[in-house]
Amino acid sequence: MSGVGKGVTTASIGKILQDYGYKVTAVKIDPYINYDAGTLRPTEHGEVWVTDDGGEIDQDLGNYERFFGIDMPKRNNITTGQIYKTVIDRERSGGYLGKTVQFIPHIPDEIKRRIREASNGYDFTLVEIGGTIGDFENLPFLFAMKSIERELGGEDVCYILITYLPTPSHIEEMKTKPTQQAIRMLSENGIFPDFIICRARKPLDIVRKKKIETYVNIPSDHIISEPDIDTIYQIPLDLEKEEFGIKILNKFGMKPKKKSDLSEWSRLVDRIKNPKKTVKIAIVGKYVDIGDYHLADSYISINQALVHASAEFNSGIEINWIDSKELEKNQNRLNDLKSYDGIIIPGGFGESGVEGKIKAIKFARENNIPFLGLCYGMQLAVVEFARDVCNMKNANTTEVNPKTEYPVIDILPTQKKLLEESKYGGTMRLGAYAAILKDKTIVSQLYKERSRLKEDNERLSNLKRDPGQKFRLGVLEKDKDIVLERHRHRYEVNPKYTSLIEKNGLVFSGYHIRDDGKKLMEFIELPKNKFFVATQSHPEFKSRLGDPSPLFYGFIKAAIKS
Ligand code: GLN
Repeated sequence: MSGVGKGVTTASIGKILQDYGYKVTAVKIDPYINYDAGTLRPTEHGEVWVTDDGGEIDQDLGNYERFFGIDMPKRNNITTGQIYKTVIDRERSGGYLGKTVQFIPHIPDEIKRRIREASNGYDFTLVEIGGTIGDFENLPFLFAMKSIERELGGEDVCYILITYLPTPSHIEEMKTKPTQQAIRMLSENGIFPDFIICRARKPLDIVRKKKIETYVNIPSDHIISEPDIDTIYQIPLDLEKEEFGIKILNKFGMKPKKKSDLSEWSRLVDRIKNPKKTVKIAIVGKYVDIGDYHLADSYISINQALVHASAEFNSGIEINWIDSKELEKNQNRLNDLKSYDGIIIPGGFGESGVEGKIKAIKFARENNIPFLGLCYGMQLAVVEFARDVCNMKNANTTEVNPKTEYPVIDILPTQKKLLEESKYGGTMRLGAYAAILKDKTIVSQLYKERSRLKEDNERLSNLKRDPGQKFRLGVLEKDKDIVLERHRHRYEVNPKYTSLIEKNGLVFSGYHIRDDGKKLMEFIELPKNKFFVATQSHPEFKSRLGDPSPLFYGFIKAAIKS
């Protein structure tokens, strides 16, 4: 079922196989009809993950990227909507040559084509089928798996069932019944799991292992226990305790290509679990219409980026979610921000809670509390600076006030036209864009210190050789440092105001130059403050354990000192 940890388990299995020297990729299947996750509500579905090539995707792809340490293209996410749309478009353009287009074989065929395409060049492809066994919407995908098994031969396919064993609190006994039902329903689709991963509050005991063993008819060492953990990064280590990697390789008749070494990973996990100190961070956002939903899931990548950065300093992290609306009406709540080591304003859309966020930014700036602004967080930092330092009374983003006298954040004329025609899809800046960094800024120092400049510059020269690249490089300036970060927004800093704002002390430390020559601001900083940095991008999408995002790294470093 959803939420049981299929994504992180898949990511962990991939990490383990990678560690034995194999090239691994993963495909996430989302059985919903939406074409992609761009139009889903983050408060219902969790965060939207953005890929380098501009895909708006389910957050599981984020787990794969974080665990595998590779950048994945959007084609690694398949939705039912995409499959049907492709088949229907093909039919409309005469691609089926007068045949009757039917569920079988055309839908599973398209699913298989997509999986094969994503697998090109890899030793292993992990295909994660979302949802619950027995769901109607899963059927075409199970059918496609069976068909791939027939085409490849059973020895090249391994099925892993991830199941949940509940422990009802009134009896305190772990129940295997849902797992038995899942096995039965899988077998109705001709699928017999080679391994069963048992998610539960506690490790599985011998009695329950035996029960499942007899039911499914597989050796008990193929039944792997995966109890609740403090940090998701523990999972590969726990799975390896049961020698899961070798067992999977055995199933394929394969041997490790190299000796597995998870010692560096394990050292970082240990730091997350036993930190020497703790930094207290406030994330000021708009938390409305959430109901019982767990807030943390709508900012999962920011959470993870904070964990990655603080692990570098052997520090734990305490995150408090602060509803920006409360700051609008309650001065005491605003003053409470003094007790934090750092303040983050994350991305967001619309006008609700904006004035509270602006108040928090002013508070951070004036009280010299380390501040990191992400996307909307940067736009609102520019608004605050324009209002309070540059005397532009009521300056605003036109997203909130289209009639403001000082539209310091505005939509570009080319996008305006698309918006008027309600072509919202085309109005977003999505995916990785190159930013040119100004020398000797805090931002360029951080990217240099974390070796991201070199890495990205190398990737850029590779990209230039690859005409199929999906990055937006725009116009590059000679001998300037370049970084690639991902984007998901509509509005931009209005070029009309940049020089006036800069004269008042805010530094625009990086920009993208579009092919038509328009400059889009990517980073800002206030050199006088301990740490006051914001970006139009979402650097959290490229942060990994052992390779934290440079901006989060700088932010936590300053927060620890403060
Ligand atoms: N609402 C802002 C825009 O569309 C920022 C979006 C974001 O924070 N992701 O430009």
